[in-house]
Amino acid sequence: TSFGFKEVHEEEKSKMVSDVFRKVASNYDIMNDLMSVGLHRLWKDKLVSKLTPFHGMKHLDVAGGTGDIAFRVLERINNVSRTATEGRVPEVENETQVYVCDINVDMLNVGKKRAHERGYDRLNYLHWVEGDAEALSFEDCSMDAYTIAFGIRNVTHIEQALAEAYRVLKRGGRFLCLELSHVEMPVFKQIYDCYSFSVIPSLGKLVADDKESYQYLVESIRRFPSQEKFAGMISAAGFEKVEHENLVGGVVSIHSGVKF
Ligand code: SAM
Repeated sequence: TSFGFKEVHEEEKSKMVSDVFRKVASNYDIMNDLMSVGLHRLWKDKLVSKLTPFHGMKHLDVAGGTGDIAFRVLERINNVSRTATEGRVPEVENETQVYVCDINVDMLNVGKKRAHERGYDRLNYLHWVEGDAEALSFEDCSMDAYTIAFGIRNVTHIEQALAEAYRVLKRGGRFLCLELSHVEMPVFKQIYDCYSFSVIPSLGKLVADDKESYQYLVESIRRFPSQEKFAGMISAAGFEKVEHENLVGGVVSIHSGVKF
């Protein structure tokens, strides 16, 4: 079903995605809380705890938007290193580098503002980079880890984004992807479909006066490959130890893999 949206051609998709995130940027964080009733925070915590960030790492968060994943990575690294040094900030701390890459500057600007409010912009290890997941500006084998949260379903050529993730990771580097996925359980699926197809666009209308953008978001979830198919695509990109874990019955799923 297309719920008011025509089949989108590949060329049109990038423009459409860019329009959607330009429009939603200023309301993005509040809408996330409303749409997921705050759950996105727990899902992001879970992604970052699976990542086990470490002190001195080079981390790339693609489609990083307003910084939610990057902030969590930094907070974890700081906690870990403070504990290890009994409260003193270790001198080698600034070896850590966290890059937030997003195709949309409006989202990045909201992120920079949030970083400023938290005092993170004083740290010289958080970098905001405008760029496309399909053509990253980072060097081969330069990152310890790559995350993408609620981003890959917006990318036009998923295989190309996966190939780029593989290219920029070091040997032993980890790929983790958090994405809205597919619910299998019959009754829960009906409730979830009803929620996403009627409640989310209405919330978009009410809060952001933008029903269409939120309708696009719901449609993009439906079009995204199943958990198994997506795992197959990650393996095809060259990753090993490919796994996925469903949360809330598949409402979201965390896929992971390692580059050996
Ligand atoms: N990761 C953030 C989070 O979890 O809150 C933001 C997720 S938001 C739903 C999706 C983001 O993907 C937007 O900021 C959008 O600009 C970005 N995006 C879409 N297509 C992209 C691409 N080809 N390359 C990089 N970022 C992209």
